Amino acid sequence: MEQAEIGLIGLGVMGANLSLNIAEKGNKIAVFNRTPEVTKKFYADAGELQGQIIPCETLEQFVASIRPPRPIIIMIKAGDPVDQQMELLKPYLSNGDIMIDAGNANFRDTMRRFDNLKDSGLTFIGMGVSGGEEGARHGPSIMVGGTEESWKRVEKVLTSISAKFHGEPCVAWLGENGAGHFVKTIHNGIEYADMQMIAEIYGILRDGLGMSASEIGEVFGRWNAGRLNSYLIEISEKVLKATDPISGKPMVDVIVDAAGQKGTGKWSVIEAQNMGVAATAIEAAVAGRVLSSQRTERLAAEKLFGLPKASKPQDGMAFLADLENALLAAKIGAYAQGFAVMAAASKEFNWNLPMPIIAKIWRDGCIIRSQFLDEITSAFTKDPDVPNLIVTPAFADMVKETDGALRRIVSYATMSGLPVPALASALSYFDAYRRGRGTANLIQAQRDFFGAHGFDRLDGVDKHHGPWGSGLATLA
Ligand code: NDP
Repeated sequence: MEQAEIGLIGLGVMGANLSLNIAEKGNKIAVFNRTPEVTKKFYADAGELQGQIIPCETLEQFVASIRPPRPIIIMIKAGDPVDQQMELLKPYLSNGDIMIDAGNANFRDTMRRFDNLKDSGLTFIGMGVSGGEEGARHGPSIMVGGTEESWKRVEKVLTSISAKFHGEPCVAWLGENGAGHFVKTIHNGIEYADMQMIAEIYGILRDGLGMSASEIGEVFGRWNAGRLNSYLIEISEKVLKATDPISGKPMVDVIVDAAGQKGTGKWSVIEAQNMGVAATAIEAAVAGRVLSSQRTERLAAEKLFGLPKASKPQDGMAFLADLENALLAAKIGAYAQGFAVMAAASKEFNWNLPMPIIAKIWRDGCIIRSQFLDEITSAFTKDPDVPNLIVTPAFADMVKETDGALRRIVSYATMSGLPVPALASALSYFDAYRRGRGTANLIQAQRDFFGAHGFDRLDGVDKHHGPWGSGLATLA
């Protein structure tokens, strides 16, 4: 029997759809699932794609069905299950075989797994896959980390199944070991910020302007035809216009306002801190989800404090235009922060992450896909080493055009008691980033006062101490 080009373990939501995508693009694939009934059902449902699929009930049969060196995608629950599955698989593998973790792994686990296999003759790829179920089935965005040699073995299959933006595949090898999973983590961090900002704008439209869900859907629909064109705005319109078949009310109005999270947003924030990069909009988005989940406390606090009355803006049309521009300005801040975190990690781990290529492979297939990413691609292609997206000529022009609107919207929301943590933090990030003379001189003086840390002077003298020795003695 003809051997499979690739194997896949884990026929859950993502694995099943990815396998069908692989088979549909003309690649023969061997599949295995811990629970054999799942494999049987998957194969029975595969219809005309059955000819491209080898269903396997044992790992031995599975491995023997794949052409060496064998690329094996592991698409199972992230964390310990991946280590367990790798251990079970190892005895059947030979030199050069490649285990590919395609789940949402913490990139530090990926680095560990990669290192552990170094002297075994086997190799490891950490592969971020974005686009959810639909993306997996019809074309995800794929971020690959591993050796260049192992990438060459899988490049053809992965290119065939990836999303295409105007014909260009949304898959790339981004660097060694944890590079792919790190970039996927930051992708998700940006996604958190993007979603939070859209939700904050929704809050202003709902609670400030008193608009109905379907009216807000209309607004998003119009924006989707402009510069905010993106998958997240597109689905927000659809969601806002949907009706609950049970109550007949708008669907969003019957959904509990407590957002879940699985960890990639939190990892983005932790890694931003580890790299010493300010990622305030992403942090605000993660904190926003945390606060959203404290629903009982929020309901009690509303009883205690009440809510400020939101004033209706004088000129509704001008206000809507401001909201659109404010969202764009804040979005620029969030993406700038995400790319800055990746630039820092690239240096720290010697990945040499290709920023224009990362923007390119996010243009389609993934959750944050948008027109905007095409503009980021152009900006980074012209200047791949720019320290911050905000200062590229195209984005600097956009910021100059839209930051006033963001300022007005954040002011309005603040005066109306409407929470806009991500929008406000993006604005403050910009204000802090573009101010040549900040206020940390006072912090340095305080640190020197209580801890004798010393400070650098503007006249060029370093490690200087202030004249507060006697003050220290008095306070002590
Ligand atoms: P599902 O819950 O649908 O499927 C989980 C799969 O993992 C099943 O095949 C299950 O096998 C297998 N599994 C669980 N524990 C073990 C174990 N200890 N050993 C072997 N196999 C095990 O998950 P998804 O398909 O949604 O997610 C898979 C991965 O993809 C996760 O890392 C997830 O974070 C990531 N991901 C998910 C996305 C999504 O939109 N859903 C998007 C991008 C990435 P069994 O049938 O035997 O239980």
